[in-house]
Amino acid sequence: MRVILRDCTILTATRYYKGVDILVEGERISRICRNLNEEADLEINCSRGILVPGVIDPHVHLREPGQEYKEDFSTGTMAALAGGITTVLDMPNNSPPIDSEERLLLKMNKVRKKANVDFGLYITREYSKRAVAMKTYLCETPNVEYSEEYLRECVSNSRGITAFHAEDQEVINKEGRTLRAEIEGVRKVNSFPVEKRYFCHLTSMESTLMANGIVEVTPHHLILSKTDRKEYSVNPPLRDKLTVRSLWTSLNYGYVQVIASDHAPHTEDEKKEGVPGFPGLETLLPSVLTYFQKMRIPLTKAIKLLTHYYKILGIEKGDVTEGYYADLVLLSKKERKVDSTEFFSKCNFSPFEGMKFRYWPIFTMLRGKLAYSEGEIIEERLGKEILGLRTMQSL
Ligand SMILES: [Zn+2]
Repeated sequence: MRVILRDCTILTATRYYKGVDILVEGERISRICRNLNEEADLEINCSRGILVPGVIDPHVHLREPGQEYKEDFSTGTMAALAGGITTVLDMPNNSPPIDSEERLLLKMNKVRKKANVDFGLYITREYSKRAVAMKTYLCETPNVEYSEEYLRECVSNSRGITAFHAEDQEVINKEGRTLRAEIEGVRKVNSFPVEKRYFCHLTSMESTLMANGIVEVTPHHLILSKTDRKEYSVNPPLRDKLTVRSLWTSLNYGYVQVIASDHAPHTEDEKKEGVPGFPGLETLLPSVLTYFQKMRIPLTKAIKLLTHYYKILGIEKGDVTEGYYADLVLLSKKERKVDSTEFFSKCNFSPFEGMKFRYWPIFTMLRGKLAYSEGEIIEERLGKEILGLRTMQSL
């Protein structure tokens, strides 16, 4: 299959340029030039939007196996496609937790048939070379065991990145999920080997400056601030306005490497009861690009933070360049309100409900195939396990 994308305006982690054509052959981008004189099976005019590389969301909870009533791998990865995300890394706090190679392989066999985007799976406790990385918690979490001993076991078993939920249980016991709980968590993580440290969803300048390793932040901690409304419960919690501002300053000065959604869907009733977590796959790109523009931070930097994890994994994705996988997303410049009733996710709730964002995906191409277009999934189940896609380096 040969596809030509005509008259593209391209935005990547390093460049913004206009008026080029892209030839896609098979799974990869084969040529990028002006006035491409070639024939193809399909031609798409891209002049009405901005073309970006498909992004990676390295922090999602797709709830399968065990909690399919909240989300499953099919609906979760449809939400990803609709959001311009072509790779997701799924967390292991399933029911039962993915804490052994045996459970990982069972999960892999189950979800592989349903994946609409490429995916990797985290494991907790036991090392497996089939897992993309280790995930562990410094505090009590549903479905996953917590103890100092368990934590140390996870870290010593991991051979590459360990993603830490860095809120410290001892501080939480005394004063709740305060910023001090996060800062104490970061301090503890800093005592583990530096090459393993990946800090999930940090929320303030103080913690991001202190964290020595890869720092992840989420759109909800960047955009929303503290409220008493039960539906807005999330871990770590939303912070006051000053802390939110400080997180932007930290990001602007280069202390953040990754933006992830922490997509954590629940039912409507669970949200009303205050079960923590938000869905975020469908709003990740629009929310981040819209707010970077508002904060006058170059959009190239947003793409950099949304594709950085590809570099960690050594996968030829996350850029629009010859030889790379053709994961391409055309974004509309038109403003649209967030309407969670339109989500592919089972979770019809959004903390951004009613907010106006630009940069919604018009289409998403996954490894050369048009998988999502104008509100519809065009081709299902194209997703592959990413470990087979790596070519440049390995963990
Ligand atoms: Zn999470």
